[in-house]
Amino acid sequence: MPITPDFIETFSVVCPACRGRVVLKEDASGIKCTECRRVYPVRNDIPALIVEEATIEDEEPPKTD
Ligand SMILES: [Zn+2]
Repeated sequence: MPITPDFIETFSVVCPACRGRVVLKEDASGIKCTECRRVYPVRNDIPALIVEEATIEDEEPPKTD
């Protein structure tokens, strides 16, 4: 069964690192925490909600002056 946004609501998925709210990425390639910006990979429709597997995704890279 593919991961859908309903999956997150049904199972009350939260970020295992900070317990923040998570959302499914638009391409369903991962589950992203809205608080700490960790992105958990989804493999074979199974989300790996493991802190060690997460990557940090920066939407706004810090500017260097
Ligand atoms: Zn988090």
